[in-house]
Amino acid sequence: MTRSVWLDEDNAPRPGLEGKRTADAVILGAGMTGIGLAHFLAERGVAALVVERDVVAGGATGRNLGLLVSGLGEHYACSIEFWGRQQAAAITRLNLQNHALVSELVDRFEIDCGYRRAGSLTAGIHAAEEEDLRRSCRLMQEDGFACTFLEAEEMNRALGARGFLGGVYTPGDGVVNSVQLVRRLARVVENAGAGIVERTPVRRMARAGADWVVEAAGGSVTTPLLFLACNAWLPLLCGHLPLRPVRGQCCAFAAPESSLPEMACLSNYGAEYWRRAGGYCLFGGFRRFGGAGEESDSDRVTENVQSALVEFVHGYFPLLQAAPVTHRWSGIMAYTPDGLPLVGRVNGEKDLYAAAGYTGHGYGSAFLAARWLAELALEGKDEIPAICRIDRPMRPSPSLQES
Ligand SMILES: Cc1cc2nc3c(=O)[nH]c(=O)nc-3n(C[C@H](O)[C@H](O)[C@H](O)COP(=O)(O)OP(=O)(O)OC[C@H]3O[C@@H](n4cnc5c(N)ncnc54)[C@H](O)[C@@H]3O)c2cc1C
Repeated sequence: MTRSVWLDEDNAPRPGLEGKRTADAVILGAGMTGIGLAHFLAERGVAALVVERDVVAGGATGRNLGLLVSGLGEHYACSIEFWGRQQAAAITRLNLQNHALVSELVDRFEIDCGYRRAGSLTAGIHAAEEEDLRRSCRLMQEDGFACTFLEAEEMNRALGARGFLGGVYTPGDGVVNSVQLVRRLARVVENAGAGIVERTPVRRMARAGADWVVEAAGGSVTTPLLFLACNAWLPLLCGHLPLRPVRGQCCAFAAPESSLPEMACLSNYGAEYWRRAGGYCLFGGFRRFGGAGEESDSDRVTENVQSALVEFVHGYFPLLQAAPVTHRWSGIMAYTPDGLPLVGRVNGEKDLYAAAGYTGHGYGSAFLAARWLAELALEGKDEIPAICRIDRPMRPSPSLQES
């Protein structure tokens, strides 16, 4: 297994599931969706049991770069081309709402997780992208979203880089340490009465009268309410959902004196992304160098993607040429054909729910999705927007057809 820079911390695992148990609600998966759900259920008086295959935040949540960016990382002008102007604005507002929800949780529970609303920088890598970004910035401003266009010189100064073209500074975006956020929120939900079992891969879920029974090697749990928050692994339990696993690879350079900003940075239409976090500079991307091999749920890194990442860093960030690579890791995302998540009742069942498929942008909507499900299951309140519904008709986005 690869280990992200964030997961490289002491963490005593919780016991696994043993024997036969019952619970008012069961959540499969303890990433940002599962732990978010446990919180929103606890807030409504239901103490769930979270069943996790690995450890809390051991999936994509513990392997992401913690960038809270609006607009799904896509340039606004491109989003408008695919979704139309109204929907593109609605998606950006949704991302901002999700960000506000994260920030609210951090404040309310005083979660120490390096959360900062430091803004994002999206830099053009070639003239066509710079032009798309210039247009995007104008369109975002017209639609009421705060952003500023930075010309190449200012952009490179802000990035601590050389060679990028101009791009967009978005002040409302942010960064966080997802492992700390989700593990600390997990403690909050345990204190509120929820249970969490780790190292318990669920092998099967089945109907048992009016209930569901969830079976793992060490035991089983029967529940009237089942939530599937296992993201890229969801197709193993519900094969008919339009989700595909896609691997993302990252690496960390030790650079205590780095001039890189501690903010969300992106380029090449979101394909490459990076940030500083304390004494590390973290980079992800170059999935296209791995081709079809990156459509995988296998947690490994590959030579071609990792060398492309290092070459990119050495070319654009000369100050990092002497910095050693300390961590290389991968994580598995769940992609949907149009890039937005699937949220709602599975097969229309009143007691089986799922939220998955954030297509590399969990901070775009995962906490909101968790709240929508809790409200729907416990209060019958359906706030899930049409663009995120599990059974919506989907048009495949051309930019998501290849890894
Ligand atoms: C390299 C990389 C970089 C990323 N960067 C960003 C970023 O900067 N910003 C952003 O917004 N998003 C980013 N993402 C995407 C983001 O991490 C995900 O969208 C988000 O973490 C999904 O959260 P989740 O809880 O739904 O899934 P996960 O965190 O994957 O959690 C699912 C959990 O379910 C468990 N599970 C699976 N099957 C079973 C089973 N059968 N039984 C029990 N448990 C099971 C898994 O072990 C896992 O812990 C990135 C992803 C990757 C891989």
